[in-house]
Amino acid sequence: MDIGRTIPADVGGDLLAEVLSYKSLYEALSRLVQDAVIQLDAAARIVRWNLAAEALTGYSAQRCLGKPFRELLANNQLQIILDIPCDGVAHEIRFSFLDPAGFRTDVRAYVTALRNGEESDGWLVTCMSARHADEIEQLKNEFVSTVSHELKTPLAAIKAYCSTLLLNPGLDEEARVEYLSVVDQQTDRLNRLIDDLLLVTRVEAGQMLKRRVRLSLDTILERVVGDLLYDGSVHRIELETNGVKVSGDPDRIVDVLTHILDNAIKYTPGGGTVRVAAREQDGHTVIDIRDEGIGIHEEHLPLIFDRFYRVDSELTSNVGGSGLGLFLVHSLVRAHGGKVDVRSEPGKGSTFTLKMPVRE
Ligand code: ADP
Repeated sequence: MDIGRTIPADVGGDLLAEVLSYKSLYEALSRLVQDAVIQLDAAARIVRWNLAAEALTGYSAQRCLGKPFRELLANNQLQIILDIPCDGVAHEIRFSFLDPAGFRTDVRAYVTALRNGEESDGWLVTCMSARHADEIEQLKNEFVSTVSHELKTPLAAIKAYCSTLLLNPGLDEEARVEYLSVVDQQTDRLNRLIDDLLLVTRVEAGQMLKRRVRLSLDTILERVVGDLLYDGSVHRIELETNGVKVSGDPDRIVDVLTHILDNAIKYTPGGGTVRVAAREQDGHTVIDIRDEGIGIHEEHLPLIFDRFYRVDSELTSNVGGSGLGLFLVHSLVRAHGGKVDVRSEPGKGSTFTLKMPVRE
């Protein structure tokens, strides 16, 4: 349906202008959206074909407009679309395009049958590659299950210790302090997870850095180590900062170092020393964080900075985590114009190296 052409002749100029401005808004939106947007007329010929539809199918709008939709589909699957009830609802279906070279592209689509009064007036089809749609679905499911598990673990501990405190009013002072400090630590863990989740949404919106300053790494590490959960009798943290300064958003640099140091402690279950050594080199602040932990097998190294990626092994199965830490580290360091690298030897330990540009 071409909105411009179907306006009755007696409609006032203002309304016509308004409708035409909606039409251009609609066209601008269909150019912007990442899903393919295709409109078919009542005879199932293509009347709209946006840029994403070109990218998905390999056919240009010029080549498609006015053509029967059936000609682009594998195994004449048009009937699935013709059978969509005219109820104004977007129905989810799957079908396949045949690209100009004869290859199939499976898609997941939402199709709405359009109506003009009592008459059927074509279809609006939005679609994306089925593989991409399935990846998004899987990511969503992984996200929900990881986050629920990570939220439930500290909550279960908080609940158990609070119940014990309530049911045993006569507990001695030492036990009370011990139980309350578990509740306190687990609350911090929950808070950190929620902060990470909020930060991930800001990473996606490209709004991570609030301010840039140049300040001493010692000041930053004081905050990081002060808030880190670790037992000083099991792990030692050695700092060799050599008076180095670092440029960037201090809160985000704290996040980066917290995640790397937290991992260094978590993945060194038998105890050991974590060394932080910093230097200035070629206009960059370079910070090495070295641990003596379980290490990371070579095949996992290219993946550990991916969102939600966790190494699944006997050694890591008892260690809690959301798989967001190194994703955030990588995104935040890049937002500062820097780089993060890792070297690791299974059974010996890992070294994460941050290289951040010096900005006065
Ligand atoms: P998690 O929340 O699982 O710790 P991260 O994104 O921080 O997630 O890390 C991703 C994975 O990389 C971890 O699950 C772990 O297997 C591995 N990893 C990260 N840091 C270390 C380290 N210092 N030593 C060994 N393995 C590590």
